[in-house]
Amino acid sequence: MKNIGILGSTGSIGTQTLEVIREIKDYKVVSLTGNNNIDLLEKQAREFMPSLVGVYNEEKAKDLRERLKDTEIKVVSGMDGLISCATLPSIDIVLTAVVGMIGILPTIEAIKAKKDIALANKETLVTAGHIIMPLVEENKVKLLPVDSEHSAIFQCLQGNNHKEVSKLLITASGGPFFGKTTKELEKVTLKDALNHPNWSMGKKITVDSSTLVNKGLEVLEAHWLFNMDLDDIEVVVQRESIIHSMVEFKDGGIMAQLGSPDMKLPISYALYYPKRQPITGPRLDFKTISKISIDQVDNKTFKGIELAVRAGKEKGSMATVFNSSNEWAVSKFLSEQIKFLDIYKYIEFAMDNHKVIDNPSISEILETEKETYDLLERVLNK
Ligand code: NAD
Ligand code: MG
Repeated sequence: MKNIGILGSTGSIGTQTLEVIREIKDYKVVSLTGNNNIDLLEKQAREFMPSLVGVYNEEKAKDLRERLKDTEIKVVSGMDGLISCATLPSIDIVLTAVVGMIGILPTIEAIKAKKDIALANKETLVTAGHIIMPLVEENKVKLLPVDSEHSAIFQCLQGNNHKEVSKLLITASGGPFFGKTTKELEKVTLKDALNHPNWSMGKKITVDSSTLVNKGLEVLEAHWLFNMDLDDIEVVVQRESIIHSMVEFKDGGIMAQLGSPDMKLPISYALYYPKRQPITGPRLDFKTISKISIDQVDNKTFKGIELAVRAGKEKGSMATVFNSSNEWAVSKFLSEQIKFLDIYKYIEFAMDNHKVIDNPSISEILETEKETYDLLERVLNK
């Protein structure tokens, strides 16, 4: 039995992680965190009886503290609360499933406290990979990918020598707007963007999938996780989301991991690694599959990958600008203040106006995030 802390337990990944734990057991949940949905957080707390629950929002934390008065559960709040939930002495592994750069500090503190990390939150590695990867090594903890593409690559690498890898092939579903022209994208709505063909996920990542920024973030995530040159990471469109990603080796052999699009597999692989668990859920049935297609990415129309690669190549704080301008733009798109194609415009504007800081510290990363938000807010309100 291992002890787990779950950051972002009320989200899409968080709730699916609890489903996996409910089914396979073998884990004691010792901390949970959420932000606004305290109805669900209360329910989860009563079911799993963690010793600590973190609510980022102070007001909601007060409310939850009142609601859980009859239990032994302690409720903490703010960033300090998140960090406490990630560093409790009893924790063996922390699953980071909060959305956005808010994940950076708790993840870093968890690693310093020698916790293994099951990483769903890609924004952390994208912006602070140069700090996190050495820290993982120094503290001798495991960093286990939860993102399905990275889990696929990690699975393909088992039993193989990293030095014999020549290329990573990350698959993309293409999202809801695959095949559309720029002219057509001028008219798409928030509802259209949230209608992902294969995966059911949180809103931010669903919008990121429609712009291919998600794939861009995943290229940068793979670059750090697997220590691969950006030029050796290729993206191909696999519309059915059956091939979750592939690894090409020096001899030309390619390993792929296939399965139905269900995050419970990558979640359970990260939690129980190196064991595979008998989780229920849909299975691929090759009697009913007529094709597994491959298409090329339309990088001229969907700029998410090229902008990410540009940020990765410009190094330093540019990935933070790419990520935080996207976080800002997506939140404005979600509140219907800007149009779909404006997301690219704001990212490009923020990147064009940034002077790169080499090897940024955590405080420089967070400062860059704030400056990017301030810049874009000024431009929007001009
Ligand atoms: P979600 O929006 O469904 O859930 C986000 C979680 O973060 C919630 O528990 C929410 O309470 C918490 N949160 C939000 N803002 C917060 C704040 N300011 N402070 C503290 N907590 C906050 O998101 P999701 O789809 O579960 O995605 C979570 C992360 O996992 C993202 O980084 C995403 O890119 C990544 N990811 C998700 C999927 C997926 O299938 N959903 C797949 C791969 C990677
Ligand atoms: Mg993914």
